[in-house]
Amino acid sequence: MKFTVDQNACIGCGVCEAECPEVFEMIEDKAQVKVNPVPDSSKSSALGAEESCPVGAISHEE
Ligand code: SF4
Repeated sequence: MKFTVDQNACIGCGVCEAECPEVFEMIEDKAQVKVNPVPDSSKSSALGAEESCPVGAISHEE
């Protein structure tokens, strides 16, 4: 599963990093995906971060 952060949509709130720091990290006030594809062990927390993003900037594909 691969995750993407829409850099134009991200408002830099940090929620995704707080929820799933093994996949998302903040760099210069934008979230970046550290590891792609995301390991199975991090999938559910990464999906949780996607759901928690207030502006829907995170998406994924199988
Ligand atoms: S939760 Fe969404 S808006 Fe907030 S930092 Fe992550 S990608 Fe950006």
